[in-house]
Amino acid sequence: MSTDITPSNAPRMKRPKRGVPEGLWLRCPECHAAVFRKDVDRRLGTCPECDHHFYVSAMDRIVQVLDEGTFEEWDADLRPTDPLEFADKKSYRERLVDEQERTGLLDAALTGTGMIRARRVAFAVTDSAFIMGSMGSVVGEKLTRLAERATTLRASPTSARPLPLIIISGSGGGARMHEGILSLMQMAKVSAALARYHDAGGLFISVLTNPTMGGVAASFASLGDVVFAEPRALIGFAGPRTIKATIGIELPDGFQTSEFLLEHGFIDRIVPRAKLKSEIARVIDYCGI
Ligand SMILES: [Zn+2]
Repeated sequence: MSTDITPSNAPRMKRPKRGVPEGLWLRCPECHAAVFRKDVDRRLGTCPECDHHFYVSAMDRIVQVLDEGTFEEWDADLRPTDPLEFADKKSYRERLVDEQERTGLLDAALTGTGMIRARRVAFAVTDSAFIMGSMGSVVGEKLTRLAERATTLRASPTSARPLPLIIISGSGGGARMHEGILSLMQMAKVSAALARYHDAGGLFISVLTNPTMGGVAASFASLGDVVFAEPRALIGFAGPRTIKATIGIELPDGFQTSEFLLEHGFIDRIVPRAKLKSEIARVIDYCGI
């Protein structure tokens, strides 16, 4: 798996993708309209009636955001282990095999390099279909290596600046409980690598998609020089139900949505999926890289 990841050569899913049922038609969870799947696909996985943003897999995201055929995966062979021999309803070892077969991914992140409108970038995406996109050791290690590699590479032969870094997060799980402290330490590890990247003059654009929660929101996803979010994404640390149950008061309307967080200064811009590629290219140019 190196340069040409496309939906057609992606591994076949055993079960339907989360959030996007199979079939010619699908029901939009937002406006409840029955919409033609082809129309949704043509609009990069958004509802033609209400612009609801459906889940997209990491591989589809690469196709949507990077120039065709430019993705080269880094650290493709990193695979998770089960150091704690953790078991809940089933053993973590078994769960990993099931998730790998279902999603075609070895873990919840893909990292590498590619071009966005002919600008070279270091690129990562996390996939919420793989154990909620949670950050275990492999996700943390891949993102750390990505930031470190971007720090050493130049944006162009004539540039003194590091390669721009784009991370699209779709992580509802935060840290991965199956890996305990080894998962928690990834927050500090990735953040430290991003700090060194920042000191070297790098431009990090963080793109938050539905959902971005827990230890992911509390580490790399919030550390972008520029933070974009897709419309109406759920973004926060603890979930709204947990917060409500803990503090016992009504939460404000739209709490933990992109729109709420834009209003409160936590993110810089809401970018619809169709404009994401152009907006990233525009910010890279604006920052003079
Ligand atoms: Zn809709």
